[in-house]
Order: sequence, then structure tokens, then C-alpha cells
Amino acid sequence: MNPVGFRAGVLHGTSIPWRCFDRFYRLLPADPCEEPMESTDADPEMIVVLRSGLEAPLRRKIRERLESHGAIISQIEATSRYYFELRGEIAAIETLAVDSWPGVEKVVVVGDSSDHWAIDRSRPVQPIQVGSTLIGPGSFCIIAGPCAVEDEQRTLRIAASVAAAGADLFRGGAYKPRTSPYAFQGLGELAYPVLESAREETGLGIVTEVLDPREVESISGIADMLQVGSRNMHNYSLLKELGQTSVPVLLKRGFASTTDELLLAAEYILSAGNPNVILCERGIRCGAASREVVLDLGAVPELHQRTHLPVLVDPSHGSGESYRVGALARAAVAAGADGVLIEVHEQPEEALSDGRQALTPEQFAELVPVLRQIRALTQPDGELIPEEIVSVSGGEDR
Ligand code: PEP
Ligand code: MN
Repeated sequence: MNPVGFRAGVLHGTSIPWRCFDRFYRLLPADPCEEPMESTDADPEMIVVLRSGLEAPLRRKIRERLESHGAIISQIEATSRYYFELRGEIAAIETLAVDSWPGVEKVVVVGDSSDHWAIDRSRPVQPIQVGSTLIGPGSFCIIAGPCAVEDEQRTLRIAASVAAAGADLFRGGAYKPRTSPYAFQGLGELAYPVLESAREETGLGIVTEVLDPREVESISGIADMLQVGSRNMHNYSLLKELGQTSVPVLLKRGFASTTDELLLAAEYILSAGNPNVILCERGIRCGAASREVVLDLGAVPELHQRTHLPVLVDPSHGSGESYRVGALARAAVAAGADGVLIEVHEQPEEALSDGRQALTPEQFAELVPVLRQIRALTQPDGELIPEEIVSVSGGEDR
């Protein structure tokens, strides 16, 4: 069973709403000799359909096993079989592969997920505050800067240029997770004062990556948002540690991870108590890709449909080559991303990491108003923003 892949209220693999399932199966009243049914009007969270003709001892065994994980069970007798309706806490049960248990024919997750990332359609989604910027509905956020903090003066010049071009937040890695252990690993703590100066000089909030749970405390002191990189999306100790803080976390999708896995990684942070999680699509590996990585822009509307968490797109890592970055950034905005993360370097050919995909400050400055225009046009009630407003104020929402 896919733990988080079902749309609420729809039978898995069909477009049948669960109420039709209910009508289809609930043809007979419950057998009065069976254990009493819970009487409730609330929709169940999960339905476990038992094999036709399954004997009472086996039914009881399955029921007890489900109850031992905390669910409230109603046993329903249908035409030729029984099924259980499960209410209450089913998150743990969703991970148990109940559909493979002897005697179980199929499992349907019916209700809205009890996971913290799941959207609650009865309440408006709130944006997340990062520094003085909002990320989420009603706002569009551009994060820009070098892959890594390198030379101090150069980093500050890049920060000044992206600020002037209309970026909302400055990015730059102190710690770099590199595929090769011989590649530049970042300046570590030496980069902290450089990032602090960048904030002081530009007023932009700082986004920087954290690799190790032991660094969370020190780096939270200088960052407005901590990035969990693609390679660390499965670093559960790091995710749990970040869950203990309230610092906004930019959680990048693992490059070989599904959107379900991304949401479950987010769940580690959210369930530990930190509600400030922002998702980021940054490209995935795919056998038929034209290049090493494919930017999965379909994930943007999918994630918006399933979760209240803001969704950003990183067209730099999602393309790997600077000439593709602008096109993918434009497409990301049109797909509804709440913002983009773009690598910018003064001298891309001299960059110690990811120079191939970095835009120059000039290229970035040309792209920003285009992105804001696309954003304005693709929002409900969107209309073209006068050029001078786009380039001066950074566009709508602020
Ligand atoms: C980065 O943002 O520089 C980075 C290393 O990203 P990713 O984890 O997506 O590869
Ligand atoms: Mn990078």
C-alpha cells in the first residue's frame, strides 16, 4: 500500500468516491452476533476489505492487530464479505502493508491524511515568514546567490547585485555536500561572518545549507532559512533535529525520491513541532532524461493539491547548465511555484562549485522582471505590471 498516495475520498485505482463504495458494500445490516459496531456518522479514515467468506477467528485476529495500533474499528457485514472501517489515528497503520496480511483483500485510505503536511481545505493556507519575506500564497519569492560562499568581497558583490535586481533572499552555502570528497566542501564556519555581512549590507534574509544535526544550533543563529539539500532529504536525524527548532526549513526533494517520500521527509520536521517547512523541486534522475536531471514541474501542482506547504523550484540544479536556467525558471513560475532558487556568480567559470549552471548578475537581472510578469499573468486576476513597478519594487505582493 502506498502510504500517502491516495486522494481523499476516492477508491484507490478508481475514480469512485468512497460513498459509492459504501453503497456498494453495505447491503446488509451488521450481524448482531458479531462484536458490536461503533456507531458514528464520521467518515472512516481507512477501509480494510476482508476476503470473501473469511472465518470469524481470522476476522478477529485482523481486528485485534489493527486495534493494537490504536485505530477505532467498526466491523461491517456486506453481501458476501466483511470489512472494517477504521477511525482515529491511522498514520502508523498506513505503514504496515495491511493489504498483504492473510485474509485481507484490499485496503482503501479514505479520509484526509492525518499527516501534518496534508492540506486542510477548511482553512486558508498561511504563508511562512522568512526574514522580512513571506513564502506561500499571495507572495512570490526569488532566492538568489552563489552555490557556495567563497571569497568574501566577491560574495558581497554578488549579494549586492542580486538585491539590486530584486531578489528577496540571498543564498550561499557554508557547507557543501559534494559528490566527490575532493571537491570544495565549503568554508564552514568561516563563511558565517560573510553571510552576516551580506545580510547587513543588503537587508536580504539568508538561506544556507545545513548538513549535520550538530551544526543546526550554530547555523540557525545566522540563517533566516536552513536548506536541507537533495542528498540529505533522507537524513532523518537532521530532519528530527530541525523539527525541534522553529527556523524555516527549505527541504529539497531527493534527486531519486518520489513526492510521497518528500512529504514523508517533511513529516519528520512537522511532526516534531516545526511547522515552517518549504518544499523545493530541484530535478530528479530519470532514465530517459535529455540530461542528467529532469526538472519535475508536474510536482508543483501536485504538491499544491496535496499539501499546505509552499513549493519552490530550483531551475539551476534542475538544469545543470546556465543556458537552460531561464527557460525552466519561467516554466516553474507558470506552473505555479511560490518562488525560485537561482544560482548566480560573478565569474561562473571561476566558481568553486556549480559554475556551469550559474547565471551572471546581468543574466539574473534580466530574468527577474520576466519572472514577475509571468507570475502576475498566471495568478487569478493577474494582469501585466507596469515595467517600472516590476523592476523597482519586485512586483506584486509587497
Ligand atoms: C545547492 O543548493 O547548492 C545544492 C547542493 O542543491 P541540491 O541539494 O539540490 O543538489
Ligand atoms: Mn549548488
